[in-house]
Amino acid sequence: MAKRTIYLSPPHLTDEALPYIEEALSSNWIAPVGPDVDAFERELAAVVDTPNLITTNSGTSAIHLGLLALGVRPGDEVICSTLTFCASANPIVYCGALPVFVDSERTTWNIDPDLLQEAIEDRIKKTGRAPRAIVAVHLYGMPAQMIPIMTIARRFGIPVLEDSAEALGSLYDGRQVGTLADVGVLSFNGNKIITASSGGALFSSQSALIVNARHLRQEAKEPVPWYEHRTIGYNYRLSNILAAIGRSQLKVLTQRVKKRREIFDLYKHTLAAIPGIGFQTELPDMQSNRWLTAVLFRDTPDQAERIRLALAADDIESRPVWKPMHLQPVFKDTPYYGNGVSDDLFQHGLCLPSGSSLSESELGRVVRIVGKELS
Ligand SMILES: *Cc1c(COP(=O)(O)O)cnc(C)c1O
Repeated sequence: MAKRTIYLSPPHLTDEALPYIEEALSSNWIAPVGPDVDAFERELAAVVDTPNLITTNSGTSAIHLGLLALGVRPGDEVICSTLTFCASANPIVYCGALPVFVDSERTTWNIDPDLLQEAIEDRIKKTGRAPRAIVAVHLYGMPAQMIPIMTIARRFGIPVLEDSAEALGSLYDGRQVGTLADVGVLSFNGNKIITASSGGALFSSQSALIVNARHLRQEAKEPVPWYEHRTIGYNYRLSNILAAIGRSQLKVLTQRVKKRREIFDLYKHTLAAIPGIGFQTELPDMQSNRWLTAVLFRDTPDQAERIRLALAADDIESRPVWKPMHLQPVFKDTPYYGNGVSDDLFQHGLCLPSGSSLSESELGRVVRIVGKELS
């Protein structure tokens, strides 16, 4: 039998999805509106434990709507974690605003609270006003240090958006991340911990923000019989068919988190003794969903890349840690407050296959190749 390609984080749908999809199809709600969208929003709000939630057609569009709802306007500055996927930062530019990137701290790999404070103070000194918003990211599912981050943000009166796209099922202080700041965002892209094939969500304890975002989500159509628009809106609604897939996936979220955490434990256990090895670390009161297991291989400068190539030669997908935004050509003139941590994580970090459908023998294949490369 030919060996199967092992992907980094493939979709993991089971038979449970079929009745949901069949019902959505036979209901004829083949539209970006329908009973599955309503039900998905209700069920998701219950899981997240938030009073106000809307779904969107992607996590990126949810971040865009979230920033608009927070009042981000052309010419504003918005602080964003530098070590992340571009979708955390691009919506800042969609708003006509300017990103300001801030580096990571060593424990969680997320935005460094001390540097955040330094960046805010320096932007006020340089521009005469505070940044309009902060985008904090829970990278690979690991919660950012939201308590110090919120203390600093509140002191300066700056609202915070939590990019929890990778972190559904991750808890801080027993609460789903995304509910610790002003607005939270989720993604249901195909590679995330659960998927709707694509989709996103935006939520907040402040109902006015979500009312406004819902309005913008459907072309800012006024509630009159004809098409009336007082502002520019967006076509950002989730398809009812995709909402049906999302509902079926939400049912297995707890199992998916459990499996991803087991995969992390296995990698950590197997690799712990290797010189220079490193992992993202949970602080007290944090529980990561361990969406992806990212490992630092630091014994030699090119160790992570050698392991990536060895895995690729056996049809196993792994990927370098996110290339920080301050190193991206498209953001080369963007202000950046750094300490070298994210550069180091990018150089030495590798995301290993972490999909919840990985079998024991497939995990064994990965571990064997990594072990051989290290010996
Ligand atoms: C996936 C992801 C997004 C965007 O979500 P999409 O649904 O793909 O648009 C945003 N931020 C982070 C950190 C992500 O990993």
